[in-house]
Amino acid sequence: MNTKAWGPGTQCIAKCDHTKPKLNELRFEKGDILTIIEATQNKGQYRAKHNKTCEEGLISSNAVREREAIRADPALSLMPWFHGKISGPNAVQLLQPRENGLFLVRESIRHQGDYVLCVCYQNDVVHYRVIYQEKKLTIDEETWFCNLIDMVEYYMKNQGAICTQLVKPKPKEGTKSAEKELSKAGWLLDMAKLKIEEQVGEGEFGAVYKGDYMGQTVAIKNIKCDVTAQSFLAETAVMTKIQHKNLVRLLGVILQNELYIVTEFMGKGSLVNYLRTRGRTVIAEKQLIQFSYEVCEGMEYLESKKLVHRDLAARNILISDEIVAKVSDFGLAKADPKKEDNAKLPVKWTAPEALKQNKFSTKSDVWSYGILLWEIFSFGKPPYPRMSLKDVKDKVLTGYHMESPEECPASMYSLMKSCWELDPGKRPAFKKLKGKIEKELRSTKAD
Ligand code: AMP
Repeated sequence: MNTKAWGPGTQCIAKCDHTKPKLNELRFEKGDILTIIEATQNKGQYRAKHNKTCEEGLISSNAVREREAIRADPALSLMPWFHGKISGPNAVQLLQPRENGLFLVRESIRHQGDYVLCVCYQNDVVHYRVIYQEKKLTIDEETWFCNLIDMVEYYMKNQGAICTQLVKPKPKEGTKSAEKELSKAGWLLDMAKLKIEEQVGEGEFGAVYKGDYMGQTVAIKNIKCDVTAQSFLAETAVMTKIQHKNLVRLLGVILQNELYIVTEFMGKGSLVNYLRTRGRTVIAEKQLIQFSYEVCEGMEYLESKKLVHRDLAARNILISDEIVAKVSDFGLAKADPKKEDNAKLPVKWTAPEALKQNKFSTKSDVWSYGILLWEIFSFGKPPYPRMSLKDVKDKVLTGYHMESPEECPASMYSLMKSCWELDPGKRPAFKKLKGKIEKELRSTKAD
């Protein structure tokens, strides 16, 4: 019996099938996700909504468990057995108590780019050099692997050319197994229930597919490279904490040699494409203000959670079949915005203080939001037309900003300019922007 009371909006996972519901009860199957609406008078009973069928009904708290947010600290790791650059003697020290098959992987200090697999065997530690050649890894030059995860999985199932099958990973201190944590918190999905259909997009890190998970249309991001997948886990951990109608919802992840991130499917694609392919003749001004409002609502929610997006731009806003704009791509979103390298910054969207001093904050998101508003009212034009990145960087730092898009309402342009104040403290908060856009929305006629 759950002793904890669940509030409205809590997400739960069904622990069992409930396929013959009595009157007023909700029908669900094991693994279905349900959202709590409210507690009833009866202890342990709730009114809930089925996320897939949208039906509402009564459930017993015994039949479900709460989905928990994933804590990113200590770091979730896809490779908890990977210890980075440590010496051989250090690895020997770590592999205690000596049990046959206890192992770790380290980076080779002597051979740059190679790795070493260290395995306990008969009270000793055997070190195998893992050669990295032509983007593949091997120990015996016979069996080759795409990445370390692949290699470890293989030797956990086969002895191959090494002294013993791998049995137990020695986790690096300060990390915990992503698979275990995701599964415990209810975010690990079942590959067997996922159907991958056609490709719908191409992101920086790989293809995006349309698919089906237990009857729900979903988007699937597949990340093949182990190191990239590791950094995407941070995105996933952030997404488990947030739930808002204007933020693309994470449904869960699958870990099977590769990482699959499964989110709600946004049938109309990215906002920038939506605007470019339809243009002024199709999209009414009120709709542009509506998009601005929806993005602002999503950002206000992130602001309230003290999360900084860092890559807010029309390409990262997706449009649902119901024409609702939602913020996506939390790849760079960080609860702690201090430590990041800035080689890949989207310069035309990034606030001056972030470009210059790496100072990211909700207020630097507000700057990007101003650029996003400009994109919306110019129907998806690239910002700062005909200006090089270097010019933009130099001029913006001295107070330069873009002119108003053609036929843009003066009030909306004035909001953009308020987002482009050089002093972050003078920029409005999303909450304030939302109030202003709401007024604008009310006073604009639909046509
Ligand atoms: P991303 O890797 O997030 O930059 O996505 C690349 C492209 O894939 C986007 O521009 C969209 O066209 C498509 N895409 C990404 N996520 C989704 C989604 N949840 N639903 C539909 N299409 C998506």
